[in-house]
This record gives sequence, structure tokens and C-alpha cells, in this order.
Amino acid sequence: MSFNSLGLSDALLKAISKKGYTTPSPIQQKAIPPILEGKDVLASAQTGTGKTAGFTLPILQLLSQGQHLRQRPIRALILTPTRELAAQILANIKEYSVFLDLKSTVIFGGVNQNPQVTQLRQGVDILVATPGRLIDLQNQGLISLAKVEILVLDEADRMLDMGFLRDIERILKVLPTKRQNLLFSATFSKDIKKLAMGILHHPVHVEATPENTTVDAITQIIYPVAKEKKTELIIKLITEGNWKQILVFTRTKQGANKLTESMISAGIKAAAIHGNKGQGARTKALAGFKDGSLTALVATDIAARGLDIPLLPHVVNFELPNIPEDYVHRIGRTGRAGANGEAISLFSPDETVFLRDIEKLVGLNLPKENIKGFEPDPNASKEPIKQGQGRQQRDSTPRKPKTDTTNRSSNNSFGPRRPSQNNDRRSNR
Ligand code: AMP
Repeated sequence: MSFNSLGLSDALLKAISKKGYTTPSPIQQKAIPPILEGKDVLASAQTGTGKTAGFTLPILQLLSQGQHLRQRPIRALILTPTRELAAQILANIKEYSVFLDLKSTVIFGGVNQNPQVTQLRQGVDILVATPGRLIDLQNQGLISLAKVEILVLDEADRMLDMGFLRDIERILKVLPTKRQNLLFSATFSKDIKKLAMGILHHPVHVEATPENTTVDAITQIIYPVAKEKKTELIIKLITEGNWKQILVFTRTKQGANKLTESMISAGIKAAAIHGNKGQGARTKALAGFKDGSLTALVATDIAARGLDIPLLPHVVNFELPNIPEDYVHRIGRTGRAGANGEAISLFSPDETVFLRDIEKLVGLNLPKENIKGFEPDPNASKEPIKQGQGRQQRDSTPRKPKTDTTNRSSNNSFGPRRPSQNNDRRSNR
């Protein structure tokens, strides 16, 4: 199948070809036609499948065909969980809309709102936003969502995980009731299905990969290792394997900092990316990682969402996630857009329960391989990390004002936030 047969306009086809895409990915083939027909869509798509173009291309087409109003009210609203993902989506929209007369911008927390407000005042057709900053600006009367025709919830599972359910509900209240809704999620829990049922009308269900399974192009391997030897092992893997670009996941911000310091001491160019880092530091770390001046990027789950790093060869779970769906998200960072990748997990005995949950979710018995000299003590405790331990360190805990995507003024007229069910589950595990 070609992009031509999907019914996209010449202006979009030209932009796609400029971008170097030749064939639409499966999610693009399945999602673009119903979106162009104006239908609601519920899409099950992992990151790396080309899902962003899957919804942005038809939105651009619909908006460019629609009535152009001089004042350019916001006609498409794309909600995403993280700043990085929001920025990435905007970058894609800009590239795809080069030959169209459409304006787009992005708003997220952690940076001064004034440049964002100036952009909004000039009029935008498409707004990409994280929920916190959107509600902030809405509360200040700086944004109107009264003309929104299309709503996208991207990475909806992650938004619920980050406790954005109440925010989403508040935003829905200020949108016109008649609109097209698109919901994208990598995993489908009961909560996501409930959210989808409340928002979507007779949706077309499209799937790029079966629910809750991992991308085939990814080789997955588990190295059982003594907990105290993990740092030594990862340094050995990177240096002896001569790895050039490796994304490493830790469960906590402190863990990310500590591992980064050890790597730097061992001569590996590394940086940490997590919720305690300011936007400037995060952007710099990501840029360094992309241009090859950094070898390792050590990230927590939430900070890593939305990072678009094409052809990432290695992802390492330094610690297994305690939320099994996070495993799917993490390893979705490799093997992107048809490339092969390797996802390695360093697994210590105290993570036995986490591994069991992951294998259950992905429906696979993941291959395990011992590395000589690093094997765990067969008598080591398999007791999981205590419930709630590290709660203060999770990247999803409220952050300091000004560096927080979820930050908003205390006189928020939408009322105080309550933790979502998912958030409870996350921190109680
Ligand atoms: P996404 O899943 O939207 O994050 O996209 C993952 C990567 O695939 C991005 O780097 C896109 O630029 C790229 N991509 C999206 N669609 C295509 C396509 N049809 N052909 C090749 N690459 C694509």
C-alpha cells in the first residue's frame, strides 16, 4: 500500500515524501482512512509504530479542507502526558504541514508561559498540550477551546498512570460536545477502556500490534544478576560491547542519578533525565544523546515518555519496572519503525514478582542467560521491594512548582486534584 491510496492531499504527500517515508506503517494504513471519514477512533498502538503520523496527517487534511476563519480558533487539541512527547508531536506537525496554511503550537509546564501565550494570541489551528499547563492557561482566561473540532488523547494509558484522569475530565467539560475523538494507547487496562467508553462515540477500533504485546523486531534478554553487581555489569556491557547509544531505565530519580555518576566515573559519557531536572537540562541531555556526544541516557519511566530516538539499538532495564505495562513502553524505545533492537533486563532476585508480572502481560517466557561472575546467590531473598518503598522518589510524585508539567495555580477553579486509581496502584506496588 502507498500513501497515495490513503486519500491524502498532494500537499501532505509532498511533505511525506520530503520526510523520506515511502510506505505507510500498519497503524497509518488502518487509522488514516476512518479519521479522514470523521469517525472516532480507538487505536491500540505502541510508540515507534508511526502512530503520530497516523493521527496528525489526517487531522491536517481535515483542517485544511475545513472552513478557514480569520481568527484561527483552536480546531484540533492534542493532549499528551509529557513535555518531550508534546514537543515531538509539534515537530512532526510542522514538518507535515510545510505546504499547508495551518498554524500549530505547543504548550507545557516547566517553562515561562509568556511566549506560549503570545503564540496563542496570534491564532493557532492545532494545539499540542500537556494537561497541567492547558488547565493553567484556561483558568487564566488565556485560551479558548470552544471551537475544538478534533480531540486527540495520545498515550492515554500513560496519562492515567500519571494521575491526569481528573484533568482530562475537566478539559472535556470545556470542549464542544460535538467533536471527533481519537484515543491512542499502547496498553488497554480496564481504566483505559472506561475512559474510552466515556469519550468515544461508536469508535472504529484499530490495532497495530496485539494488545499488551511487545514489538517482534526487539530481541529481549534477561540477565539474572546479584543486585549489588548491576552497576559493574552494565558498565562492562557498555564498554566491552563498545555500545554507542544506550537508553537505561531505573525505577527512581535517585537511582538514575547514582547510576549516572558511576558511569561517568567509569569514563562513560552519561546523563540522567527525570522529573527533578529542569526543562533546560532535559532538553540538553536529549540533544546530547541524539547527536552522539552522550553514550548513555539514564531515565525514569515518566521522563522517557515520548522520546523519539530513531533506530535506538539498545535499551537496558537496569531495574525492572514494578508496573508491567512500563516494560512494554520501555522496550518500545528500541526496534523502532522496522529497525532491529535489543532490550536487556538486569534482573535481581528481589524483582522476581515484577518479572513474573511482565511475562504474564507480554505472554512470553523471556529468555534468561547467566553472565559468569555476576550470577545472583541462589539463596538470595526473592522478597519484592516493600510496598510503597521509594514512593517519594517516584517520578510521578508532585514536583516543585515551575519544573512541573502538572503544576498549576492553587486557586485552580477546576478544584483540587485527587489521585487517580492508577496512581494509587503505581505507588502502592
Ligand atoms: P512514532 O511511533 O509516531 O513515535 O514514530 C516513530 C518513528 O517512525 C518516527 O521517527 C517517525 O518519523 C517514523 N515514521 C513514522 N511513519 C513512518 C513511515 N511511514 N515510514 C518510515 N518512518 C516513519
